[in-house]
Amino acid sequence: MPQPDPDPALDAAFVRRWITLLDQQVAGARQLLNGLDAAIGDADHGTNMTRGLAAARTALEASPPATPASACGDVGRAMVASIGGASGPLFGTVFIALGRALPEAAEVAPTDVVGGLRESLRAVQQLGAAVAGDKTMIDAIAPAVAELEARMGGRGSLPEALKWAAAAAHQGAVDTIPLRARKGRASYLGPRSEGHQDPGATSSAMLFESLHAAVRT
Ligand code: ADP
Ligand code: MG
Repeated sequence: MPQPDPDPALDAAFVRRWITLLDQQVAGARQLLNGLDAAIGDADHGTNMTRGLAAARTALEASPPATPASACGDVGRAMVASIGGASGPLFGTVFIALGRALPEAAEVAPTDVVGGLRESLRAVQQLGAAVAGDKTMIDAIAPAVAELEARMGGRGSLPEALKWAAAAAHQGAVDTIPLRARKGRASYLGPRSEGHQDPGATSSAMLFESLHAAVRT
């Protein structure tokens, strides 16, 4: 009987796949993300993310890292260095914290990725001081990490758990629409920030969608 394909290795090539897929998705949604940011910010979120991810891909191609941990660190540092504004350090921290949390091995385990993403969430919250409901990227990342942990349980499948995590992130982004922004540029608008989807939560949902796609391929 044919066996199902084993889950792909969680190695440096997997991180490159993730970033390539995320870059493609964000580049395709650049106008959408700029438009969301135009409503409650300064209309640059799509441009910022596109620039940061292009820099991340260049960094990975310039000196291919040997481990997924160092690949994540390279991605995070490239994003911090190339994106101005609030989102460079915040999105960069997602990857830097993940890289620090992963064991320095050629391949890591699904549970390492789950624990690493919990660390990413913790580090972004430490840096930006946003909590769930503040209408930021946390509103997509926090439910995604919670869903990932719940679905992985003892010995769940990472691709399956990531499918649910990506759906939770997407729902979290949609659920920012009625919220009033309490952090970042959008918070200056006060009640006028209500009724618009947060751009950073939207791109954060793409981060989980592309991660799901990267572990399936
Ligand atoms: P800028 O606000 O500098 O123009 P971007 O437009 O690229 O940066 O990113 C805006 C996004 O950053 C927001 O939609 C929000 O999701 C996220 N953000 C802003 N401040 C914070 C914060 N303190 N914590 C978490 N996310 C934040
Ligand atoms: Mg902006």
